Amino acid sequence: MQSYYVWTVGCQMNKADSERLESALGQMGLSPGDSVRDSDVIVLNSCVVRESAEDRVVGMLTHLKPVKQRDPEKVLALMGCMVGPRKDALSERYPYVDVFMQPQQYAPLIELLGDRLGIDPDGCVGPLSATPSVATYIPIIHGCDKFCSFCIIPYRRGREVSRTIEDVVNEATHLSRRGVKEITLLGQNVDSYGHDLPGNLDLGDLLAAVNEVENLERIRFLTSHPNDMSDHIIAAIADLDKVCEHVNLPFQAGDDHVLAEMRRGYTNAEYREKINVIRDRIPDVSLATDLIVGFCGETEDQFERTAELVRDIKFDKVHAAAYSTRPDTIAARLMEDDVPEDEKRRRLKVIEALQEEVATEINSRLLGSTQEVLVEGRRKGRWFGRNRNDKLVFFDSVEDLTGNIETVRIERTSPWSLQGALVSEKDIVTAGR
Ligand code: SF4
Repeated sequence: MQSYYVWTVGCQMNKADSERLESALGQMGLSPGDSVRDSDVIVLNSCVVRESAEDRVVGMLTHLKPVKQRDPEKVLALMGCMVGPRKDALSERYPYVDVFMQPQQYAPLIELLGDRLGIDPDGCVGPLSATPSVATYIPIIHGCDKFCSFCIIPYRRGREVSRTIEDVVNEATHLSRRGVKEITLLGQNVDSYGHDLPGNLDLGDLLAAVNEVENLERIRFLTSHPNDMSDHIIAAIADLDKVCEHVNLPFQAGDDHVLAEMRRGYTNAEYREKINVIRDRIPDVSLATDLIVGFCGETEDQFERTAELVRDIKFDKVHAAAYSTRPDTIAARLMEDDVPEDEKRRRLKVIEALQEEVATEINSRLLGSTQEVLVEGRRKGRWFGRNRNDKLVFFDSVEDLTGNIETVRIERTSPWSLQGALVSEKDIVTAGR
């Protein structure tokens, strides 16, 4: 039997795309390989959102060149955001790659394999995973219309296209019948879901519909935009029992001039106000954010506004990145990447140190509390899962509790995770034997 390996970098959207492709390859009769080099079909699912991600993909392509040359029968595919609408330049640069696929466009590889393996590819591009994890993803809107000046996504993933509510609910129902307990609804800008559908629908309506899916325990969604996170969406998080109290709301920069240069469409004060509304309406919400340091022209004072926001808001999690110019973007065309690299790294370290302090303090308040944890599996010899606030919790158990919601008493905390012991009835009985 032929084997496949899907190597993935980048965001949750890429991970979801890879899961779907793996499912289709499985339906074609291929089995998962143990390593990239040794597999018959190799797919690199690429990311170019930052230069460092693109460098990793280029490194892997270079590494695989002699592998493919030694064994031309292997199929090598490049998928994801590195593959834009113009594929000619890529195929000139990497002539040993058999097939190039834009995000979510699996058909070229499936057809090629269908020819080689003599399998009718029809029906193999089904988007539904046959063996999904307990917590999995459903993409609900593809592309992005925002065109933030630093971002390459709209050029690579195209304009926003929403899936219908019916389509998403059908997939959620299918997944829950296969044991999925938690679904994360994905989009580059998930809050703009539905604006292109008839009937004035939005993410709040979709959350309400998915909330009705039987046996599903939890619903999350990623990633939000401050301007599109409406009161209706906030009310849905507050009122729907399965929607978890966790919001990832990128602010990107704390200074109003930098925000304007980034074309984010809001000010520092407006962002703070949005956070206040969310916290008022959902008192036990946890918050995450994304930010960029060292954007074109960012001064020390402007950077300080970003640090101040991290200090003031006290996010549970911060995803910080140093700015790197991405081709085709507005910033690449009109602005100068003039903050020195070592200064960007210094600013990044300031944010990371600050956030470590904040997260240490927030998590330490959970010491001694009990948390409802959806068990996802084992990692480093311990069981792990997440609470509704998306905190990673580790604990020990004699039995496999994957898929259960268990009560865990927190005994140790760190900025990154919580560790505890089971207090569920079942464990008490087991321990008492
Ligand atoms: S909202 Fe801005 S940062 Fe996010 S994907 Fe769209 S263009 Fe990129």
